[in-house]
Amino acid sequence: MPWINGKQLHREAAQRSLAGLSPARVRLRAEALAAAEDLARPAYCYRIVPLDEPAGTPLRAGGETLLADRLLPGSGELTGLACGTFTLGPEFEDRIRELFADKRAALAVALDEVANDMVIALGRRLQDRMLMEVQRRGLSMAGELRAGDPGLDISAQPAVLRLAQAERIGVGLHGGHLLTPIKSGTVVCGVGHDLPPADWSRCDECPSAPRCRMRTRAAGAGSDLRA
Ligand code: SF4
Repeated sequence: MPWINGKQLHREAAQRSLAGLSPARVRLRAEALAAAEDLARPAYCYRIVPLDEPAGTPLRAGGETLLADRLLPGSGELTGLACGTFTLGPEFEDRIRELFADKRAALAVALDEVANDMVIALGRRLQDRMLMEVQRRGLSMAGELRAGDPGLDISAQPAVLRLAQAERIGVGLHGGHLLTPIKSGTVVCGVGHDLPPADWSRCDECPSAPRCRMRTRAAGAGSDLRA
């Protein structure tokens, strides 16, 4: 259950961020504010959960049921799921809310962009860590699904959180399927023997793809889960 150095993550995110909506000078102010006020409390946790029964529709693991057919491989054997969650903690969202309340919307938007870049970098770190763990066990990992994106319905979010034991880092659900803290995410990957590289992405059929900045940034982060 690693707690990550916020300053390091901030540097990582800044190196990989693409031009956002905010003017460069406002973005720089937002980055300075995030660093000066030490807003990031990044952490992640994950579990590699064996399937309860041979892979099929639905997938059953750890007593949970997931409809995630995209993880069924064309060859090899799917034997488990890597389920993880990550968060920046609540400070960013509180500060963004304050800035909006103070009518400093431009800085609030820029701070939101800084936080989103850090969330992407943190998710990347988590997936790298899960991949290392899977390889250490002599297994392979392929595919990446996130509840709410194509391939995994948002209703799967509670099960993913339970599988990842998200309470260890304080990630939960607020209302329906909204993660709390807001600057958090979850991920599910397939684990098994000789899994072929996924030839799909969760973004492939997403109606939001043409205007999704997260997609651009995730691609820029070099997301490759092939093991
Ligand atoms: S295009 Fe954006 S919203 Fe759609 S799945 Fe990819 S990251 Fe998610």
